[in-house]
Amino acid sequence: EAMFKQGFLNEVYNERPISETHPKIRTRFPPEPNGYLHIGHARAIAVNFGFARYHGGETILRFDDTNPAGEEDRYYQSIRDIVHWLGFKPVRETTASENFDRLYELSEELIRRDGAYICHCTQAEVKLQRGMSEDGKVGGPRFACAHRTRPIEESLAEFRAMKAGKYKAGEAALRMKQDLQDPRAQMWDLFAWRIPEGEVKHLHQPDYMMFPTYDLAHGLCDSIEGITHSLCTTEFELSRVSYEWLNDKLDVYRPMQREYGRLNISGTVLSKRKIIKLVKDGYVRDWDDCRLYTLIALRRRGIPPGAILSFVNDLGLTKAQSVISIARLDQAIRQFLETTVPRLMVVMEPLKVIIENLDDDYEEIVEVPFSKDPAFGTNKVPFTKTVYIEQSDFREVDDPDYFRLAQKDPATGTVTLVRARYEKPAEGEAPKKQKVTYIHWVGESAKQNSPIKAEIRAFNPLFKSEDPNSHPEGFLADINPDSEQIYPNAMVDIGYHHVRGTAPWPKEESEAGDINANQHSVRFQGMRMAYFAVDRETTADKLILNRIVTLKDPGKN
Ligand code: ATP
Ligand code: MG
Ligand code: MG
Repeated sequence: EAMFKQGFLNEVYNERPISETHPKIRTRFPPEPNGYLHIGHARAIAVNFGFARYHGGETILRFDDTNPAGEEDRYYQSIRDIVHWLGFKPVRETTASENFDRLYELSEELIRRDGAYICHCTQAEVKLQRGMSEDGKVGGPRFACAHRTRPIEESLAEFRAMKAGKYKAGEAALRMKQDLQDPRAQMWDLFAWRIPEGEVKHLHQPDYMMFPTYDLAHGLCDSIEGITHSLCTTEFELSRVSYEWLNDKLDVYRPMQREYGRLNISGTVLSKRKIIKLVKDGYVRDWDDCRLYTLIALRRRGIPPGAILSFVNDLGLTKAQSVISIARLDQAIRQFLETTVPRLMVVMEPLKVIIENLDDDYEEIVEVPFSKDPAFGTNKVPFTKTVYIEQSDFREVDDPDYFRLAQKDPATGTVTLVRARYEKPAEGEAPKKQKVTYIHWVGESAKQNSPIKAEIRAFNPLFKSEDPNSHPEGFLADINPDSEQIYPNAMVDIGYHHVRGTAPWPKEESEAGDINANQHSVRFQGMRMAYFAVDRETTADKLILNRIVTLKDPGKN
């Protein structure tokens, strides 16, 4: 909300509030279905859906499928899922390609209005016409090609021939007839329709062998769909002039394009090409590997959508690009989880403790609140003769009074067993004055099926530096070899069953292994340790937990 009340988006709204012809604010989120969305897209989603929602309007989810190379069905599905997961509901789902016929008609109309022509120049020739020399120098004189002034009827006939398949890639294209003397490059007779190299078939428009460019399709699709505010990132700021030129030339409704800064995260890579490389070469498990910053990865790690939205919202919105560190996102996640998830006791690296002065079948049910918030209820866990504590919570030398005896594994020299005594103060009696320390533990009880065994996957940054993209030997050279630590013998207290709702984890059973599953993550805090979520690879036999984030920023004390 804060994002819409003041600042950039508020100004945008005031520039053009609702009008008579367009009585509702309508925005669109226009992803290309050629990859999975990443954390940067969360800003685009929040801005477009949030802005419309805030003003009582609506948002269209438009798949910008103008470039058929790389489009796949699974991306459509995943994008839908993620928008829904973030809590937004498009009023309608559209594709740019469903407008191809309409775009074609409008393009004929553009030719008739002397606003476009069929051009047969090569790329190199077009560059020269735009004042770019062969050695890459820009700013030379700009000039029109011979095709620019051909008769309208001839261009119309050639455009139809082009659609019918007469030409191969590079032999003909439709270009807008703008203003070569305008200082802005977006006015230099942009391409409107192109024939791609090779045999490219469109997923939804198999009859089209030529495709509209972004410059043609974007503004016209916005206009056709009645978008009032077309909000996009600043790299399109220069395109605003051609966006307006095109809609005005055709005398159709002109949406208002406004630009905001991209959101980037340092310490990771977001580019599709790079993530494909990481997946293919086995550096990560898949596109939703918990060390990545695709939205499916953040979802899998267990980050709640609300945490992502509050992160995006708290950053605010300006025209400047923001580069935000992973640590800042982690901090937002901690803040969000602190009050929203219950607490359990999770032992990551168990150390067995036998309490000598208890009977073998001793079992005391200890009540521990699930949260500071009493609404979460009370956890009831068994305290028994054998309990497990965190290895790191035991120090032989530090606490000789408390831990009476330690057995060492002769092979490794590590402590494998601790013997201790339980000193329970009698009813009404104050605990003995001695150094008190609080640690977490889980009791062993066959009767209660306690503890619950789990594998924990803990994640560290995938890259060593804040800027893997500029590593001199390429981003792969910056990979952190210790980005994932597995704790195979972790233990969770039986409050987990309560947290899950029903035991044993039926949701994960049905969704296991599905990268696109819209998971309802089970999340909790492991007291003193970290926040955890159930991973999608969990089965009825094996609980797998992802460490969402540690309780404290490891870089700070
Ligand atoms: P990428 O190059 O990372 O794949 P893209 O711009 O090609 O990004 P699209 O699928 O075209 O990806 O993006 C859909 C929408 O999301 C566009 O409006 C785009 O401006 C916006 N968007 C993409 N990346 C970011 C980002 N990092 N921050 C904010 N908005 C973004
Ligand atoms: Mg794009
Ligand atoms: Mg893209």
